[in-house]
Amino acid sequence: CGIVGYIGNLDSKEILLKGLEKLEYRGYDSAGIAVKNEAGVTVFKEKGRIADLREAVDQNVIANTGIGHTRWATHGVPSRVNAHPHQSASGRLTLVHNGVIENYAILKREYLSDATFISETDTEVIVQLIEKFVNDGLEVEEAFRKTLKLLKGSYALALLDDQNDQTIFVAKNKSPLLVGVGDGFNVVASDAMAMIQVTDQYLELMDKEVVIVTKDYVSIQKLDGQEVSREPYTAELDM
Ligand code: GLU
Repeated sequence: CGIVGYIGNLDSKEILLKGLEKLEYRGYDSAGIAVKNEAGVTVFKEKGRIADLREAVDQNVIANTGIGHTRWATHGVPSRVNAHPHQSASGRLTLVHNGVIENYAILKREYLSDATFISETDTEVIVQLIEKFVNDGLEVEEAFRKTLKLLKGSYALALLDDQNDQTIFVAKNKSPLLVGVGDGFNVVASDAMAMIQVTDQYLELMDKEVVIVTKDYVSIQKLDGQEVSREPYTAELDM
């Protein structure tokens, strides 16, 4: 399983698909991407191989922001419906997740008893919870933080907001995730190998950090909002 993301000036679809192909070695049962342009977020997902996902992607959708996922099912059978990305009820928020949320059933009961769920995943609880806090009046970044504070378990997350062209929201706890730094673009990947063709400069992330990724900057913060300063390292991989 794995995660990729891209924000920059190029069309993101092929970069994401290539990245997911490089993560195939980690094992997965389904895959998906979500891309964002002025018209909004479009999700493509399929059970099966990246080749199947590639077939499902509409090449006419051009979008320079996107996130992608390969799934190793833990909650809910391998299927198209349970494949990531998952979206909030209104469709505003789109999320990919690697890991396991141990308290998802409690969170669902406590905060989302009125919500309708489309999938059987623990992941859908995360994205619905973020939207609940947005509906309560929080900005997406604050709602994301508030949700992270409630989660127990492991996660690598990348989130898109339909109303924000500029940003991929990222966080991790006990699942691997890196941010790759480029000139006029930035990327997200579970493994530097996924994105080594676009950059070899990577920022390591620590557990419970939140990262705001735009095409021009990367802001790493602790859960309480305190800014963290970190220099990228050069990834050297056999290609
Ligand atoms: N727990 C999530 C699911 O079952 C994510 C699994 C993964 O890490 O791919 O959908």
